[in-house]
Amino acid sequence: MHDLVIRDAVIVDGTGAPKTAGDVAIDDTRISEVGEVTGKGRREIDADGLILAPGWVDIHTHYDGQATWDPDVTPSSWHGVTTVVMGNCGVGFAPVRPDGQEFLIELMEGVEDIPGTALAEGIDWTWESFDQYLDALDATRRVLDVAAQVPHAAVRAYVMGERAHEDATPDEVAAMAVIVEKAISAGAAGFTTSRTILHRSRHGLVPGTTAPLDELLAMADALAGAGHGVFQLVSDQAGSDEEQVWLTEIAKRTGGVVTYSLAQTPFAPEAYKSALANAQALQRAGLQIIPQVSCRPTGMLFGLQSSLHPFITHPTYRALSQLPLAERVRQLSTAEVRQRLLTEEAETGSAVARVLMSRWDQIFPLGDPPDYEPAPETSVAATAGREGRRPEEVVLDWLLEREGEALLFAPLASYADGDHEALRVMMTDPGTVLGLSDGGAHCGLICDVSMPTSLLTHWVRDRQRGPRLPIEQAVKLQTSQTATAYGFDDRGTVAVGKRADLNLIDLDGMVLHAPEMVFDLPAGGRRLVQRVDGYKATVVAGEITMEEGEPTGARPGRLVRFGQI
Ligand SMILES: [Zn+2]
Repeated sequence: MHDLVIRDAVIVDGTGAPKTAGDVAIDDTRISEVGEVTGKGRREIDADGLILAPGWVDIHTHYDGQATWDPDVTPSSWHGVTTVVMGNCGVGFAPVRPDGQEFLIELMEGVEDIPGTALAEGIDWTWESFDQYLDALDATRRVLDVAAQVPHAAVRAYVMGERAHEDATPDEVAAMAVIVEKAISAGAAGFTTSRTILHRSRHGLVPGTTAPLDELLAMADALAGAGHGVFQLVSDQAGSDEEQVWLTEIAKRTGGVVTYSLAQTPFAPEAYKSALANAQALQRAGLQIIPQVSCRPTGMLFGLQSSLHPFITHPTYRALSQLPLAERVRQLSTAEVRQRLLTEEAETGSAVARVLMSRWDQIFPLGDPPDYEPAPETSVAATAGREGRRPEEVVLDWLLEREGEALLFAPLASYADGDHEALRVMMTDPGTVLGLSDGGAHCGLICDVSMPTSLLTHWVRDRQRGPRLPIEQAVKLQTSQTATAYGFDDRGTVAVGKRADLNLIDLDGMVLHAPEMVFDLPAGGRRLVQRVDGYKATVVAGEITMEEGEPTGARPGRLVRFGQI
């Protein structure tokens, strides 16, 4: 008698092999039979031709705080994600000095747009060292597995205190390396750092952003000393020839995977091609330098409740910004307020924000169901041109739709050509890995946590403006390929002996709903979430955690300690 048998499924096993019809048996936490299962199960599910695939492994999230208070790890768990890797981009909450908690919260709020009040209320700081943080994560049962990485900024703040943004002395670098090696030895999945000028808090750039190569190499040596661990970074230039030089150095020193965020930047729309070519060449030379790419443009969602939209720094809007939404909408709809607003300009000292708020050819209605590959002729610029109006008038009208809850799609990256071709090239490149969902982060502006679902709804089923992907390839990208990049050897495929992390999917009936702003974080903090229909069941370690979109109450998820699985 098996614990669970799923019968008559279409198995897409995550290896890229052609799908097959069959059954899967599960005993305890593992898959025990695949094919024709003759034995009965204590519980049986008739899949009736639904897709059975491995659970999604999402390697780029920021649930470092949320995972300590939310056992449901939403919205990722709604989207079939069964393993998340946290601590990306150099930011996180351990190690932490007792007097340094506020600083790490402000950093996370500034860089990842997670409300500081929610973090302050939600996090129960029971740790100081990174291994104590791992113990705290370990003590909570969740619906999915989490793995943690040790973030450069927290390590710097721990060692250097108020000097965290300055140059480190050799002694300080040595002290950081000791902490990193201990964290990795205790089971952290990797070390992460930031090299981007886009990530900043009110204190400035993320500590470590301008660290010299020697400091990064010391951390690389720490990974080598611990014997495992991914080196993850976010950078503005990581694909460039210059940065390839030190990425190469780091990869040589760690001997493991070095992964960096790669997107098509609007300012150098062809640069991703040379980055891919560079990575391929380095991989052929035996180095595991893996660009991390996404399956959707990094999508800012402009709305009256979001943390950015074209009028957010206009004086007239600022004066209204604290009013309840309905009242704001009422006032913004009056001729007088409207006229005043449309004669003003953005008042921000940030050149980046000014550009992002006025790229009229890169702002589109998102719609419901959301369209992440909108045609260029539907942009604000094109609409304004057609209607002989100013773009500001068009965008204001759109923001006021749906009683002020409308969201506009403003791709931050990977949409320079007005379609998903650049993404398709990056995703299907054999040298890349899928990531960048940023689950748990950018709560007021971005909701890319649903990217794994878009792989199925958009790339396998619905895409009209270019080639689609075979389901076998799409599933592989988000399961065995992400799992392998991080060294999760025990999951990511439907095979005997693997962990029973599975999704039963009704592909025909799958609906990705429009994102919505909710105020359910601790202290009433806001976040964008996104619902989905079509995940009939999600299984984690052999237990059904989600059924028809609702949690069953089972919490088999645990902390994955690397080097110890
Ligand atoms: Zn990130």
